[in-house]
Amino acid sequence: MIEQQSAKLKELGLRITPQRLAILAALDGDTSHPSAMEIHRRLAEGYPTLSLATVYNTLEALAENGMLLELPITKGKLNYDPDTSDHDHAYCSVCGRIFDVFPEGEPRGASLPAGALEGARLLSVRRVYYIACKECRGKEDL
Ligand code: ZN
Ligand code: MN
Repeated sequence: MIEQQSAKLKELGLRITPQRLAILAALDGDTSHPSAMEIHRRLAEGYPTLSLATVYNTLEALAENGMLLELPITKGKLNYDPDTSDHDHAYCSVCGRIFDVFPEGEPRGASLPAGALEGARLLSVRRVYYIACKECRGKEDL
């Protein structure tokens, strides 16, 4: 595990530090789509010298290299996803949780609606469903 994470950092040209290794470990298998601030908060106790800037830089470098999905779901905040497979997200407007929505069956045929933006080439599609989740249903109007 540590070897894998060290290799990742090396590949990115980032110096291997206990803090950066902790950021990678915190993300591993995490399905909650945390923001940089959330990751920082989680690690602050164990790594009191860890700065938010280090968290941001590390996440940015990972995202730029396709090792992490960067999700611009809410205004002014990025959420991160270590699962880089093809999937969408649902954002609960009430509690703020972000859920995975995996495509059913065959991989989606990515195409623009017929006749739309003629001449354009589609590069990728990422949908966000805005929902009131199971626990929040009925609380939308509060
Ligand atoms: Zn909710
Ligand atoms: Mn996801």
